[in-house]
Amino acid sequence: MTLCKKFREAGVNNILVLEAADQAGGLCRSENIDGHQLDIGGGHFFHTKYPEVFEYVFSHLSKDEFRYYERVSKIALGGITIDYPVESNIWQLPLEEEIQYLISVVRNGEFQGRPEPKNYEEWIRWKLGDKICDDYMIPYNEKLWGVKVDQMDCDWLYKIPQVNVEEILKYSLERKADVRKFPAHIHFYYPMKGGFQRIVDALAEDEKHYIQFKTKAVKLENRDKRWVINKELETKYVINTVPWNSLYEPLGAPEELTADFAKIQYNRLMISLYEKQYTHNWHWRYIPDIHKTYHREFFIHNFAADSKENGVYLESNLDRYRQQTMKYNGKLIYEVRTEAAYPIPVIGHQNAIKHILEYYEPKGLFGVGRWGQHQYQNADVSMYEAMKFVERRIDKG
Ligand SMILES: Cc1cc2nc3c(=O)[nH]c(=O)nc-3n(C[C@H](O)[C@H](O)[C@H](O)COP(=O)(O)OP(=O)(O)OC[C@H]3O[C@@H](n4cnc5c(N)ncnc54)[C@H](O)[C@@H]3O)c2cc1C
Repeated sequence: MTLCKKFREAGVNNILVLEAADQAGGLCRSENIDGHQLDIGGGHFFHTKYPEVFEYVFSHLSKDEFRYYERVSKIALGGITIDYPVESNIWQLPLEEEIQYLISVVRNGEFQGRPEPKNYEEWIRWKLGDKICDDYMIPYNEKLWGVKVDQMDCDWLYKIPQVNVEEILKYSLERKADVRKFPAHIHFYYPMKGGFQRIVDALAEDEKHYIQFKTKAVKLENRDKRWVINKELETKYVINTVPWNSLYEPLGAPEELTADFAKIQYNRLMISLYEKQYTHNWHWRYIPDIHKTYHREFFIHNFAADSKENGVYLESNLDRYRQQTMKYNGKLIYEVRTEAAYPIPVIGHQNAIKHILEYYEPKGLFGVGRWGQHQYQNADVSMYEAMKFVERRIDKG
C-alpha cells in the first residue's frame, strides 16, 4: 500500500496491486469478534524510530485517534511473572533463583573473554549464560520459530537485549532496571477505536482503486523483458511483497536458485481468542513453558480501549498447535490462522535472499518489505523501506 501511495505521489499512476485476499491489510488486519478487537495477525502495536513514518501514518489517521502507552510486557518464568526482559529483572525472582541466575550470568562467555560465536544458540549462551538460555531464550524461541535454535543465524540479534554483566548485577543490587537499555520500543501507539485495522483502513482509503482483490499471483513469466502474470497481466516491472518461497513454483522453479529458495522459510501462527477475567494492566506476556502450546498471550482490553473486557488472545506456532492440545483456562471464542507470520532467520538466509534479489533485479522483479527483503521488519520498517525504494527508483528515472 505504501509503495502504491508513494509511487502515485511521485506521479506514477499505472500501478496495479494484486492482493490474494478480499481486503487489504495482510497481517495488520483486525476483526471485531463479539465485541473483542482481535488483531488477526497476532499482537500489533505502532511505534517507529523513523520520523517520516510517524508523519506518514499520522497524516492518514490523526495522532488524536491513538492512545499512547508505556509498554507493560511480562514473562512467565516458572510459577512467577516478572517484567520483560529477564536479564534486567532477575531481581524480581525469589532470592534463591536470583542467585542461580546471577552465577550463570557471570560465567557467560562474553564476561570470561571467550570469542563471540556465530550461531544463535552459542551466541545467547555466550551473552546471557546457560540459565537464561535454558529456562527462557531457547524454549521461547523454539516455540515461536518452530526450528531448533542451533539452526538459526545471529544476524537479527539486535532485536534482543544487549545488556552486559555489570548492568545485570547493578540492576539486581539496585532492585530496578534501566528501561533505556530495552531492546524494543518501551512505548507504543494503538488506535482508540477499531483495532490496528484503523491504520490499514486509513492508508488503504485512496489506494482501493489500484488494488485487484481476490487475485493471487500464481504464475510469473519473464518474456522479452516483460513480465506476464497469471497469463493475462503484462508489465515491465514487478515488486514482490510476499514470501519468495511461495513464488518458487510460480516463477517456474528456477534451478540455479533452488538452494537459495529453500533457505527462505517462514512460520505460521494460530491466533486463539478467549474470554478470561483479568484485573492487571499487562499488555502481553511471554510464555517460554514448553508444556504450553502458546508462546504469547495478549490482554486486549488493556490496549484496545473499545474492546470488551476480559478478552485475551494467544499466539501459537501452527505446527505446535497441531501437535499439542491447547490448555488454557478460559472460554474459547474464535480462532484464525496466519498463512505467513515471521521470516525464519535460518543459517544462510541472508546470502539466499541476496542471491535471489540480485538475480531478479536486472530482470525488473524487485523485493521490498518484510517478505520482499525477507527480514524481520515491523510494519513501520516495511513502510520505511517502501518509501526509500520509491525514492531510489524515482531518482533513477
Ligand atoms: C505475530 C506478529 C506480530 C507483529 N507485531 C507487530 C507490531 O507490533 N508492530 C508492527 O509494526 N508490526 C508488527 N508485525 C509485523 C507486520 O505484520 C508486518 O511488518 C507487516 O504486516 C508487513 O506488511 P506486508 O504488506 O509487507 O506483508 P503482509 O502483512 O504479510 O501482507 C502480505 C499480503 O500479501 C498477500 N499475498 C500473499 N501471497 C500472495 C500472492 N501470491 N498474490 C497476491 N497476494 C498475495 C496476502 O494476502 C497479504 O495481504 C508483526 C507480525 C507478526 C506476525
